[in-house]
Amino acid sequence: MAHEDMTQNISTKVLPSEQGSATMIETTDMTHKITKKIVGYKVLTKDDVEPVKQEPEQPSLESMNENLARPEVLLGSTYKIKTPQSEHALYITINDMILNAGTAHEERRPYEIFINSKNMEHFQWVLALTRLISAVFRKGGDACFLVEEMKAVFDPHGGYFKKGGVFMPSLVAEIGYAIESHLKHIGMIKPEKMTDHQKNFLDEKRKEFEAQHGESEGQAFPEKAVLCNKCSTKAMVLMDGCMTCLNCGESKCG
Ligand SMILES: [Zn+2]
Repeated sequence: MAHEDMTQNISTKVLPSEQGSATMIETTDMTHKITKKIVGYKVLTKDDVEPVKQEPEQPSLESMNENLARPEVLLGSTYKIKTPQSEHALYITINDMILNAGTAHEERRPYEIFINSKNMEHFQWVLALTRLISAVFRKGGDACFLVEEMKAVFDPHGGYFKKGGVFMPSLVAEIGYAIESHLKHIGMIKPEKMTDHQKNFLDEKRKEFEAQHGESEGQAFPEKAVLCNKCSTKAMVLMDGCMTCLNCGESKCG
């Protein structure tokens, strides 16, 4: 290698420094010849490098995850469940976290669940259930599968009917329904809306049935109605040879 080539790989750069003018040598690929006398040198450290000014980033959107610290105060709702299986009511409290507050992306997500009752009989599994559900809430993502899982739990001793003729296959299922109504309330589950046409149709069907079988006084659905498998409500009646649900419109013929 020629002598000139070696010198060409050394460049000089004069940096302003506290100790007066120091000359800094750095090797680069650029070809520069040293023209000034070297009076000192300094190795460039991290601190000397000017911090790259970054454009202020758009604040990233908050989403529910396990690392979110619990704020001192959370808003929530408490649902009361009264079952014929227990003398004492169950109180289900679900507290929510507000994410991206004050922005267009503000959303309310469930953070924790507590269940209280005077009845301590179920305390053990109720406590386990609430801890697991809270953990799932905090993991983030779509927690709506919980509702479906819980609603599908059947008590081997048999379920019970609620006011209005809705069948509850178990206490776990009823807790599932409470969570469902909460998730609907905060907008995580979109409620199935019936069109006016569907409503009118069901009203007509109902009047038709009552004209034939007498009015069902004070009751949501006719006394003779049987359980609908779709909406778990005792609202299915036989009309024109078809079983028709006066609650959700489900119809089965033959
Ligand atoms: Zn139905």
